[in-house]
Amino acid sequence: MKHPPLVESLIEAFTCLPGVGPRSAQRMTYALLERGREQGRELAGALQAAMDGVSHCERCRNYAERTNAEQNLCAICQDPRRDPSLICIVSSPANVLAVEQSGEFRGHYFVLMGELSPLDGVGPRELGLDVLEQRLRDGEIRELILATGTTVEGEATAHYILDLAREAGVSVTRIAQGVPMGGDLEFVDGATLAQALRARRPFAD
Ligand SMILES: [Zn+2]
Repeated sequence: MKHPPLVESLIEAFTCLPGVGPRSAQRMTYALLERGREQGRELAGALQAAMDGVSHCERCRNYAERTNAEQNLCAICQDPRRDPSLICIVSSPANVLAVEQSGEFRGHYFVLMGELSPLDGVGPRELGLDVLEQRLRDGEIRELILATGTTVEGEATAHYILDLAREAGVSVTRIAQGVPMGGDLEFVDGATLAQALRARRPFAD
């Protein structure tokens, strides 16, 4: 038996989500059509609004809502109480939230939206490192705090950025203690992360 084309295409559309195969997609589709039409419409509206309205902050690359302002900046980059000369480098927006929850950091961020992984086609440009290099040269950054993961890709990314910072004469520290090897910041509790930030050390190879 085949579903009607509209049902079929909804199932197909759900499979674009990470971890969702054809069977889960089918279950989701049935659930919405049977008992969740109103939530389904809300989901459709929220999807549409987010896909059209969310862009990247032009300074730190974190998610930011599109505005009519001259520059699209996120709330952190617009906050005058934060120190723009201190930049914490993280791999993902989830890691920004993790560091924010530690309550320990009052600088700005640079969000890579990934880590160097040449085999997957993720090079320096995909991570915005050309933009970071320019900002390092501009002389507005006093210190970089590297908070990329402790995986192989995270370490490779950290070393690449270390080279950029050295060329620009900017000091680099790396969060250290408390972050488990091979771990992701997302899963580190706030107290541990606060300690890791306080105990950051100069980063060198
Ligand atoms: Zn920003």
